[in-house]
Amino acid sequence: MEIKRIIVAIDGPASSGKSTTAKRLAKKLNCIYVDSGAMYRAVALFLLQNKIDFIDKKLLRKALSEINIEIVPSKGQGENKIILNGVDVSKMIREPEITDYSSTIATESLIRQRMVELQRKMAETQSIVMDGRDIGTVVFPQADFKFFLVASIDERARRRWQENQQKGLGTKTPDEIKHELAFRDKRDSTRKIAPLKKAKDAIEIDTTNLSIQQQVDEIFGIIKDEIFL
Ligand code: C5P
Repeated sequence: MEIKRIIVAIDGPASSGKSTTAKRLAKKLNCIYVDSGAMYRAVALFLLQNKIDFIDKKLLRKALSEINIEIVPSKGQGENKIILNGVDVSKMIREPEITDYSSTIATESLIRQRMVELQRKMAETQSIVMDGRDIGTVVFPQADFKFFLVASIDERARRRWQENQQKGLGTKTPDEIKHELAFRDKRDSTRKIAPLKKAKDAIEIDTTNLSIQQQVDEIFGIIKDEIFL
């Protein structure tokens, strides 16, 4: 059975289940998975580490020319590795400070242009599942499949809280997390450039009451019906 090269875009707000779903889906489709949020996180980390004020366009241009981001696909069920200028920053980019700052720097057009360029390059020669905020609207408006995942804010906060507990990062209450998520979603969806929004032709899936397996099955079912002809 031959599968043609495909691009799957999965967008949605924070903790709507995008990453876990996208990762498992990519495995089922035997293609690469790219977490575009990790790329904005890596840029945020670089700017903080090097004390670069992104408002200064000259400094920012120079910084962007010096940033090299590699995504090393995981083997098996593990996470992709995010390599920033040769250093594995996969853990560091998940720190709360980076989470917040990534959404601030993601409002800057020069940064977005560079990320979009890199993201498109990744899909030039291979099938890809990419998740983010603007994948179906800006990065790949011609994607073969577009999904927009949503879930209630309470459920998203619960998931993030649970994830923090599992990773030993559990100092924040579900309520604090809920406020942070709402704040970040607002910034992401109200920015001028490439705001978080559902593409007209995206299929919306509410994951509030779905398990990860159910989300993956639903999306895989839709894709399978069209590509396994
Ligand atoms: O997906 P994640 O929560 O890791 O993304 C971190 C931040 O990166 C988001 O809050 C958003 O501001 C930004 N982002 C973006 N466009 C994408 C992916 C992420 O602006 N395609």
